[in-house]
Amino acid sequence: MARKQILVVEDNEKNMKLFRDVLQATGYQTLEASTAGQALALASKYRPALVLMDIQLPDMDGLEALGRLRTDVRTAAIPVLAVTAQAMRGDRERFTAAGFDGYLSKPVDVDELLEIVGQHCEGGDASRAIAGHGNAREA
Ligand code: MN
Repeated sequence: MARKQILVVEDNEKNMKLFRDVLQATGYQTLEASTAGQALALASKYRPALVLMDIQLPDMDGLEALGRLRTDVRTAAIPVLAVTAQAMRGDRERFTAAGFDGYLSKPVDVDELLEIVGQHCEGGDASRAIAGHGNAREA
């Protein structure tokens, strides 16, 4: 069975490495974009199971990128989680109201990441995936 693809949109290399390492070790395949423009192109081409969207990106912010995903019929139904370093009171409500399917704050808590990713990728039970594919890596 093909592994689920998750598109990670993140312009910070250390954060990208964390997402990549955790998601690949858990049995997911990652698609990686460091700009919103790259993310939109990858999303429409591959239609990943889930998008993790950093809010602060070099070319446009995550809210605008979400809007573009939602207006493209190829990507409109893909769940998108907001990832933000702002961590301000009311962020969760604000990003949910903006149309995101969920919210993660940085620094990212690995258990929280795997729980929310599992919720949005049916069959993506993190603990089972760790047991079965702990050493799986995608080239
Ligand atoms: Mn950023």
